[in-house]
Amino acid sequence: MSDKSLTAKERLAIERTHMPEQPAEKRARNFTEVNLGLAEAAAIEEARRCLLCKNRPCVQGCPVGVRIPEFLERIAAGDLRGAAEILRADNALPATTGRVCPQEKQCEAKCVRGLKGEPVAVGWLERFVADWAMEHLAPPSAPTTKTGFRVAIVGSGPGGLTAAGELARLGHDVTVFEALHAPGGVLRYGIPEFRLPKAIVDREVKNLQAMGVKIECNVIVGKTLTVAEILREFDACFIANGAGLPVFLHVPGENLKGVYSANEYLTRVNLMGAYKPQGRTPIARGAIAVVFGGGNTAMDAVRTAKRLGSTRAILAYRRGRDEMPARAEEIKHAEEEGIEFMFLLAPLEILGNDDGWVRAVRLQRMELGAPDASGRRRPVPIPGSEFELAADIIVVAVGTRANPLLTATCPDLKLNKWGNIEIDANGMTSIPGVFAGGDIVRGGATVILAMGDGKTAAASIDRYLRENKVARR
Ligand SMILES: Cc1cc2nc3c(=O)[nH]c(=O)nc-3n(C[C@H](O)[C@H](O)[C@H](O)COP(=O)(O)OP(=O)(O)OC[C@H]3O[C@@H](n4cnc5c(N)ncnc54)[C@H](O)[C@@H]3O)c2cc1C
Repeated sequence: MSDKSLTAKERLAIERTHMPEQPAEKRARNFTEVNLGLAEAAAIEEARRCLLCKNRPCVQGCPVGVRIPEFLERIAAGDLRGAAEILRADNALPATTGRVCPQEKQCEAKCVRGLKGEPVAVGWLERFVADWAMEHLAPPSAPTTKTGFRVAIVGSGPGGLTAAGELARLGHDVTVFEALHAPGGVLRYGIPEFRLPKAIVDREVKNLQAMGVKIECNVIVGKTLTVAEILREFDACFIANGAGLPVFLHVPGENLKGVYSANEYLTRVNLMGAYKPQGRTPIARGAIAVVFGGGNTAMDAVRTAKRLGSTRAILAYRRGRDEMPARAEEIKHAEEEGIEFMFLLAPLEILGNDDGWVRAVRLQRMELGAPDASGRRRPVPIPGSEFELAADIIVVAVGTRANPLLTATCPDLKLNKWGNIEIDANGMTSIPGVFAGGDIVRGGATVILAMGDGKTAAASIDRYLRENKVARR
């Protein structure tokens, strides 16, 4: 079955489909998913927009190298099983990346159709096929031939899970050690239910377990056991423990009640279930919530505050709208939900009342100066522009960095000046047999970049084992 019969003109005549979503007013008061997913007919029609370019630029835009034209061509032909098989072979977490990848900067940014109009909706189609596969296909099975090699993975975020899946597929015996009580990393504790339902994370994890991946939760490497101890039991190790240590504003008043790091705020809501009516985890709910930051984390925190009942949910960012690193779709959704954006502002001091709770924040207006090392224009304070903004809760989402808990117990691991693990071109650290990837190497990045690192490291680990080790049977 093929759909190659369509001419380029016919493909070009098809307009990009729309993603059905919950109405903004309704969804701003609940935690169920915003995007509702494409219907099969709409997905097939959208896939028919692909021009099947010979040089496949979209694939170059995908850090895990999903064979995009091939899986789109299968959808266009109505062969959803074929599309799912391609997707599953290339991407360990397709239902996740279909929901949270910044496609507008990756595959869709490279789509030729985007030059003169709208790119093919690769992300929505990925989500469609992954969801279809979860409903209609059995989980992938474990390979029958085992190598006898044992690999430990530290961290069950997208980097660790991808490496685990790839290594299990190659026949290695894989154990993931996770510090928290549930697997998924940021997918579990950071990204809210309304963007990535935890039932989806559960299903993706189950697929990996069906392939033979073992997951041990409540194991903190660096406390419960060390990397040295891991290496006595395992033939290789992949460290993907993320960069979950919050960065603070370092302004007076940051210790007042009602001030959260985004990490704590979102963990309480997502991992600990504070958003559920029967949830027992306490969370402060204020009429006015002010969130500092401009990335996906800030966006998730401010939209969460709105859903928890804030009448004013304000995002304050020290640069302008064009400099915000958040996904375009999240910014659009947040605006529709009534989130207030305040640009070119920096906090100077958080002010409290007599009970020790936040009552306001003193802000300074900024203007954009010359570009900094990141290429973005640097915010510069405007003297005499300070003012007060009332606030009941404040969430700080200005970045995270590497947690030294693991690295402090592993002195042979070479780190850069920010505490991130250094690796060579194969993903290997300064310790033979120990590989690393994801945010612990890059600093806060993206799901798909962590997955790309997991995939690269898995291939290197496989090579390393076969060339250097005798299997323990
Ligand atoms: C709120 C939020 C929203 C985001 N939204 C997006 C988005 O929409 N799109 C996108 O592409 N990216 C997004 N990101 C970034 C993305 O989630 C990260 O870049 C990605 O999760 C990094 O993956 P990782 O596997 O390296 O680490 P993580 O996902 O951080 O996973 C690391 C895991 O290691 C565990 N761990 C840590 N230390 C230890 C230890 N010592 N022993 C054992 N286990 C340990 C942690 O508990 C965690 O489960 C977001 C990030 C946040 C915080």
